[in-house]
Amino acid sequence: MTSLNNILEKAYKEHNLSKEEILTLLNSDGKELYKLANKIRKENVGDGVHLRGLIEFSNICKSACKYCGLRSPNTKVERYRLEPDEIINYAKQGAELGYKTIVLQSGEDNYYDVDKMCDIIKGIKKLDVALTLSIGEKIYDEYKAYKDAGADRYLIRIETTDEELYKQMHPNMSLKNRKQCLYNIKSLGYEVGSGCLVGLPNQTIESLADDILFFKELDADMIGIGPFIPHPDTPLKSELNPKNFDMALKVMATVRLLLPDINIPATTAMETINPMGRIIALNSGANVVMPNILDTEHKKKYEIYPNKICLNEHSGKCRNCIEAKIKSIGRFVSETKGFHR
Ligand code: SAH
Repeated sequence: MTSLNNILEKAYKEHNLSKEEILTLLNSDGKELYKLANKIRKENVGDGVHLRGLIEFSNICKSACKYCGLRSPNTKVERYRLEPDEIINYAKQGAELGYKTIVLQSGEDNYYDVDKMCDIIKGIKKLDVALTLSIGEKIYDEYKAYKDAGADRYLIRIETTDEELYKQMHPNMSLKNRKQCLYNIKSLGYEVGSGCLVGLPNQTIESLADDILFFKELDADMIGIGPFIPHPDTPLKSELNPKNFDMALKVMATVRLLLPDINIPATTAMETINPMGRIIALNSGANVVMPNILDTEHKKKYEIYPNKICLNEHSGKCRNCIEAKIKSIGRFVSETKGFHR
């Protein structure tokens, strides 16, 4: 059995680990792992933190992912969708607040056909910002149209690489197709973002190690790791596990070891279950934060999980608040668009 220190030393030198070595890290208390992830972050991407302004433009969704509060069978959600001009206006507000990247996220909502999406993309790209899409599974031609219209990055979490668990969690979806989406996005020249949920019922630590190896093999540009948070109006409502935060942090830090110079967000879900979550994540390998720029009325309705942070805060206040937090740990807000390649 290789000792923890040997594994960390190997990771520092080679940025490669076996599944067994990853398991040793995930089963450790995390302290040394976080320290090394922070060092590798500093040496490879520096102290700048990239802020990405998030616009959750529709909570209408045709899917039924077991963990997600926006799943179509949930009739308790008040649904909304923003019109293209409203979305572009939010992006303008974001650009004025100094965000260099705008992220558009939504449920799987077919209202936005290729023409509408391309208009939105072109409108936002006039603002001299980088644009990330996080709007789910599409066919190759759609991804191509969005890229041609100017989108720079695409974010689609694999959620889990465990085939059986994937099937349990995602009715009428397939792991194979989700992977194909990622390969299509990559081949089209997008910067590719992915990630996984940590703490789903029946999820094993072995499968989390497989997720990490998948991100390495994909050679992702961005990886976001989120602790699973049970939503009361989903079938997984009673699956709360307080260990999810630590395990998510360990998965995130291990990703930093293997992919030393990619973008890694301190996720909102981490802050939701730990009031210091994003600062802890920024000190354990993360270099990105994604504050919300919606007004409070819409923010509240985009409830993928409960008790999301900053629901009553105005977007300008969020911007200042996060900057103060970043400065409090000796870091600074990056002035660049924060591309990986
Ligand atoms: N429809 C888009 C965007 C999904 S929402 C897509 O499929 O890509 C963005 C992310 O929220 C999901 O990828 C999922 O990982 C996360 N999420 C959903 N429900 C969650 C929950 N209950 N707890 C924590 N994260 C959740």
